[in-house]
Amino acid sequence: ETILEMTDISKSFPGVKALDGVDFKLRKGEIHALMGENGAGKSTLIKVITGVYEKDAGLITLQGESIHFKTPEEAQNKGIGTVYQEIMLCPNLTVAENMFIGRSHTALVNWKQMNEKAAELLASLSIPASPTQELSSCSIAVQQMIAIARAVDMDCKILILDEPTSSLDEDEVHKLFALMRQLKERGVGIIFITHFLEQVYEISDMITVLRNGKLVGEYETSALSQFDLIAKMLGNELEDISK
Ligand code: ADP
Ligand code: MG
Ligand code: MG
Repeated sequence: ETILEMTDISKSFPGVKALDGVDFKLRKGEIHALMGENGAGKSTLIKVITGVYEKDAGLITLQGESIHFKTPEEAQNKGIGTVYQEIMLCPNLTVAENMFIGRSHTALVNWKQMNEKAAELLASLSIPASPTQELSSCSIAVQQMIAIARAVDMDCKILILDEPTSSLDEDEVHKLFALMRQLKERGVGIIFITHFLEQVYEISDMITVLRNGKLVGEYETSALSQFDLIAKMLGNELEDISK
């Protein structure tokens, strides 16, 4: 079941066509890696979904309905959560405060209730943190998970992770992957961007490859070798080297 569909998306910046007629599809409960060399257009594609950038052309549908978000908040309210490499949380507030702050629809009567709700959510996602500890005392990996927990509590159907593993060690990456698998089980569709190929092969179901703002193709991870993936990311360069 397709939840997000992007058709023929284009976006230019002065002097560069960052996206040139790109198609992208995300299905329910799918972990979908978005791959490409630096500058291929991955972050731009995501920013077009979430309303950070306005697309020049193309169509985006969410569960069959045409959408056009003007801000990331609008996208979040429609169930699209985004967690960037640089975490947008408040280091001097507690874990619970970071999960619920600025959430108008959450009628949190008091501090005790907020902490109880936070404890429940942390436990249900197996996140090793206490609601009352200061966020800055958590590892970067746990802070990432708390950012994800916040998105999950806002009922996200789609979670976008743009290079979430860049500053994590191997153990932390596996904790993050466990959380991603749990969300997948719940039917959340995840768009995953990373530079680490081995992580793509460990966690993703599908791979979409971009090169110079153009779609190279969409592949099932199990049907694409790492060598072929690299060749698709680089274009002809591998063949050139072998000549
Ligand atoms: P990736 O995430 O795959 O590394 P980006 O989407 O960040 O690629 O960038 C794609 C292209 O668009 C690059 O050439 C980049 O320099 C350009 N670009 C991205 N954002 C902007 C912007 N805000 N202003 C101008 N150029 C941009
Ligand atoms: Mg980049
Ligand atoms: Mg990027």
